Amino acid sequence: MHILKRPEAEVEALAQALIEAKKQIGLCKECFHLSAEPVCEICRNLNRDNTALCVVADSRDVIALEKTREFKGKYHVLGGVISPIDGIGPEQLTVQALVRRVSQQKPEEVILAISPSVEGETTTLYVGQLLKPFTKVTRIAFGLPVGGDLEYADEVTLARALEGRRELD
Ligand SMILES: [Zn+2]
Repeated sequence: MHILKRPEAEVEALAQALIEAKKQIGLCKECFHLSAEPVCEICRNLNRDNTALCVVADSRDVIALEKTREFKGKYHVLGGVISPIDGIGPEQLTVQALVRRVSQQKPEEVILAISPSVEGETTTLYVGQLLKPFTKVTRIAFGLPVGGDLEYADEVTLARALEGRRELD
């Protein structure tokens, strides 16, 4: 379809359809995972365990962890990792909302599942220190290659990393 050759009304309709599609995908107001609804499916699921909260950098990590079927708790998506060189500090992420959520909901355990890159490490340590006054904070064990993204890890590796988590120093 050559867009220049199409009638204006048709192009407008197409543009409108794209805008509508984009509007429908937003972020869950509870966990910041991608969601077409104000609160995502995972947060709405009454069978999920409220005592464990898994913190990830990205929505893709939620999808990767869900594939393992190992984790039955809830998630919190940071929206990235702390990276001063890219101008990303805690204010650009959902860190504040996370601290508020943990202080109010008091999960028994917060699991930090962030890739072990330099930025990921910084983020894990920073967020961990903020959350420690409220609850037990663990991090997943990385048999993953350094800099390896969660989303590229196979399900078995990821399930093991989750299982072998240890308390943050
Ligand atoms: Zn959610």
